[in-house]
Amino acid sequence: MQEPDDVDRATDLLARARRVSVLTGAGVSTDSGIPDFRGPQGVWTRNPEAERLSTFQDYRDDPEIRRESWRQRVAHPVWSARPGPAHDALVSLERSGRLRALLTQNIDELHQAAGSAPELVVELHGTMHHTECLSCGARAPMSEALERVSGGEVDPPCPYCGGILKSATISFGEALDADVLRRARDAAMDCDVLLAVGTSLGVHPAAGLVDVAAWAGADVVIVNAEPTPYDDVAAVVLRGGIGELLPAIVGGTPG
Ligand code: NAD
Repeated sequence: MQEPDDVDRATDLLARARRVSVLTGAGVSTDSGIPDFRGPQGVWTRNPEAERLSTFQDYRDDPEIRRESWRQRVAHPVWSARPGPAHDALVSLERSGRLRALLTQNIDELHQAAGSAPELVVELHGTMHHTECLSCGARAPMSEALERVSGGEVDPPCPYCGGILKSATISFGEALDADVLRRARDAAMDCDVLLAVGTSLGVHPAAGLVDVAAWAGADVVIVNAEPTPYDDVAAVVLRGGIGELLPAIVGGTPG
């Protein structure tokens, strides 16, 4: 745990900032019942083989990986998850008028469910709430595909062209959308504080946004239970539970 002084320093930096860009990761949603990948109870920590489900080539080339992905999507905790205190705290920050952008690696849409303005949320890795066809690019609500899986289709093909359907997320081996990445870099360049929360900062190019912000002169504040490769770059690092720390440094219930 960090010193109480560090909480005060982070609170002070955020209170004085005119523009705050926030980078969130899976750790903001663990209190909502969605496991992260690399934390102590993470999906990959418990089962390293599960990484193949998030690797584009494996998904495209291996029908068994796709069948397992659909089985897991149907049962995923995201469908019943509700925003937690960290999501609410970021809505409070937005209502204070100083949120420049909410850059999220999460694919669960819990920031929008909490009330964050969709135009401020930049989904770096896409969303689980839609599907995309790998052949024709058709996009559709995930619920339509999940109904087909529940009805017995183990690997539902695209209803338009018969291609492979996948969640509209960025897997390893896929490039980020260029426009999304540009918006994220602009927000990292244009802030007084970059607040990185609940991310191991191990996935690029998202993690590199911390460097972009620091290079442009922003103070970096990191809130995460475990060390990250960017702790040395940060003005303040807070270690502990996000659900307690984030409301403490940015304000509690959305007003
Ligand atoms: P990660 O799993 O690599 O790291 C999460 C970090 O959060 C860990 O360091 C962990 O110690 C910390 N953490 C977890 N719960 C915490 C808590 N309550 N308080 C304090 N710290 C906590 O996640 P990442 O950095 O976001 O990168 C992994 C990729 O995983 C991203 O691409 C993202 O798309 C994907 N992912 C998303 C979700 C989601 O949408 N909720 C869930 C799992 C994975």
